Amino acid sequence: MSSAMRRIKRGLKRHHRYNTVEYNTEILVHGRMVYGCERCDRRWSMYLEKGIEEPGENHKPSPFVIQCPFCGGMARDISGIIGFAGGGYYPLPDGASYFANRKDSDCGVPILN
Ligand SMILES: [Zn+2]
Repeated sequence: MSSAMRRIKRGLKRHHRYNTVEYNTEILVHGRMVYGCERCDRRWSMYLEKGIEEPGENHKPSPFVIQCPFCGGMARDISGIIGFAGGGYYPLPDGASYFANRKDSDCGVPILN
């Protein structure tokens, strides 16, 4: 590969990262995990933002335990990862809870809606 081509490729990569930061109004998810509360027994879906619980060099796990939004008890994953049929990314459904992929956190940040 010529040095000019390498420069172009590096430039494209930087541009892509820049764009990803700009798209903060659209949350893309690749699946969900069902969390269940040990105290009140409620169950709900936590969607997984792109980069959370996905293989790859920037892999970030979701927390083992989160606080139940209904009673304040401890809730755990009871389903494992449930991907979309056929795979891929979809926008977060309106009003859904999810694990956000934040730059300043090593694991998914629970956003409970
Ligand atoms: Zn609860």
